[in-house]
Amino acid sequence: MSTPTPSKHTAAADAPPLVELTAARKDYPLGRTVVSALRGVDLVVRRGEFVALAGPSGSGKTTLLNLVGCVDVATAGTVRVAGQDTGQLSEGALTKLRLDSLGFIFQSFNLIAVLDVFQNIEFPLLLQGKLSKAERAERVRAIVDKVGLTNQMKQRPAELSGGQRQRVAIARALVTRPTLVLADEPTANLDSETGERIIDLMRDLNHTEGTTFIFSTHDPKIMTHADRVVRIADGRVVDAAGSSDTHAHVQGHA
Ligand code: ADP
Ligand code: MG
Repeated sequence: MSTPTPSKHTAAADAPPLVELTAARKDYPLGRTVVSALRGVDLVVRRGEFVALAGPSGSGKTTLLNLVGCVDVATAGTVRVAGQDTGQLSEGALTKLRLDSLGFIFQSFNLIAVLDVFQNIEFPLLLQGKLSKAERAERVRAIVDKVGLTNQMKQRPAELSGGQRQRVAIARALVTRPTLVLADEPTANLDSETGERIIDLMRDLNHTEGTTFIFSTHDPKIMTHADRVVRIADGRVVDAAGSSDTHAHVQGHA
């Protein structure tokens, strides 16, 4: 496997990778047959990286993010997150890893309709049960300010635009200060300008907080914002060190 050039955002090269998949496979039973969603994926993501996972629909992007996010387990191979082999962890340890170290941003936002912006963002902190009410309020206010929704704090999701909803989802993913944020096509339901602003916001948080991001997309314009593009096709990584410059990539493989 080739060693990716460390970007200026990455931690010390000798630190263990934040994410490491080795020969990871995922098979889904489908009637009497099996769908192989991932067919042996090797992938390393280091702390501080801002990585795009690119590939056509059905290529395995969501499956890969679900394995890294510990919401699904590999059929074979290993998935290590924050130095831990997720296949060896108990259900309780997986829940703790998810809650303390990971943040999720979904294509369809997945906000809770009856809660307002503040309450949606506070929710993971309530699940964690570590902070007092006052500490939670301070934490929520700080992240709401960062994503530019201070004036929408009391509004419910239905009263927000698509871009605002996705900013709530980003704030909710970041409020616990996770090491790693996984975003599954976070811009797919947004117009292209709003989508670019959302990626810029993620990028800004990557710079200022050092949060590692892995986001899937099939939009070439969105990919150009990444440090590195991991290309996946048919359940396999076909290029793990891809340039985010799509033109260079096309020429390089002509
Ligand atoms: P992508 O996110 O790139 O569109 P997915 O990871 O969702 O790709 O899917 C990869 C493949 O696995 C597809 O062929 C899809 O139909 C299949 N697949 C995904 N989830 C399931 C499931 N729960 N049961 C059966 N097949 C699935
Ligand atoms: Mg998907």
